[in-house]
Amino acid sequence: MDTKSKVVIVPCSTYDQEAVYAAVKAGVDALGGITAFVSPEEKILVKPNYLTAADADRAVTTHPSVILAVLRLLVERGFAKVSCGDSPGHGKGETAAARLGLTEAMKKLGVREADMNEEVLTDFPEGMTAKRFYFAKEVTEADAIINVCKMKTHALERITGAVKNVYGFICGVRKAAGHVSYPNPLVFARMLADIHRATDIRLNIMDGIVAMEGNGPGSGDPTPMNVLLFSADPVALDAAYCRMVDLEPWSVPTCGQGQIMGIGTYEEENIELLVAEPAPEAAEAEDGGETAGSAAPRITPIDTAELVKRFGRPDFNVDRRAVSSGGKWGFRIGLLNRFTKRPYIVKKDCVKCGVCAAHCPVPGKAVDFKNGRDKPPVYDYSRCIRCYCCQEMCPQHAIKVKGI
Ligand code: SF4
Ligand code: SF4
Repeated sequence: MDTKSKVVIVPCSTYDQEAVYAAVKAGVDALGGITAFVSPEEKILVKPNYLTAADADRAVTTHPSVILAVLRLLVERGFAKVSCGDSPGHGKGETAAARLGLTEAMKKLGVREADMNEEVLTDFPEGMTAKRFYFAKEVTEADAIINVCKMKTHALERITGAVKNVYGFICGVRKAAGHVSYPNPLVFARMLADIHRATDIRLNIMDGIVAMEGNGPGSGDPTPMNVLLFSADPVALDAAYCRMVDLEPWSVPTCGQGQIMGIGTYEEENIELLVAEPAPEAAEAEDGGETAGSAAPRITPIDTAELVKRFGRPDFNVDRRAVSSGGKWGFRIGLLNRFTKRPYIVKKDCVKCGVCAAHCPVPGKAVDFKNGRDKPPVYDYSRCIRCYCCQEMCPQHAIKVKGI
């Protein structure tokens, strides 16, 4: 019996809507087609990454072309109960969707915009780290979820991908409090793995056509990686991304803890890598067939060395310090160092809006206007738990993290 986790890589270097649709179809078909994961009679929630309202070309969010391609694939296969939405850390999902031009496009497709503002306290007694969540009601009402994440860096977890994207199931106002309850990268990753265990995510799709490197997840630099990744296994998918950017998967808490908690594998020998390329005529095919005739993708198995050779970017700007400090033992040292990695404000870029202070989850605030509202906020590092919510949410990208 084949027990390996499959990860499909589809090369794609454009956000042209038809090309992305062909690429998404090729990726899903290479895994057996969309009905291998979900059924037309089910209520499907498509969950993109809307970190905050941002233009598509900033790579802060899943690109609308990718989101629309997934929605179109479902609608064309006869799925009638499809909704799409996310709960951003700052602002409302509806605002982020409108900024991406999705509101009207979803209406045209007959897809309902998910209301991710109403929360439901959900008990999860089987939780290893988290035993209850304030999930958006839409999450609890969906029969199945398709996780459409973005390839980005992340100050707390090094990367954000398929495992991390589920934090958007928690309603926006509750997110900051979660960082207090799960105050370091390992326990936070374990809580994320519990979210995967508590929900029914059937398929993970990563938008890595243009990724974000550097000061992610909100203030980094867009950089082309020219791929879409597909897998039912969120850890294997994130591990493939890690290997593409010369980052050891075990040094990424969401991969390490994800594997320990049983939501997937990052081990090379347990992952089957496949490259799928749309047939040339796939973009024009309108026959509605899942793998119809000549529109079937060309599928080639590859190994990790070839993944790196064909799609790798060893210069990708991501925090890989633990690797340079010496293997898995070094990671533990790196983890300790992480607690001294401070956020700081670049004063000239600060407009004194107060978003950072508003999102600081520490009672009494670890960043605040201690010198008056006419000066940038200042940090109290003795209280700061290094959750990086302030860095994630600063609309001016004025907050950096030392070492990134
Ligand atoms: S969120 Fe950014 S711009 Fe606003 S006050 Fe804080 S550092 Fe300044
Ligand atoms: S100051 Fe920033 S990093 Fe520190 S606890 Fe507050 S939000 Fe988190």
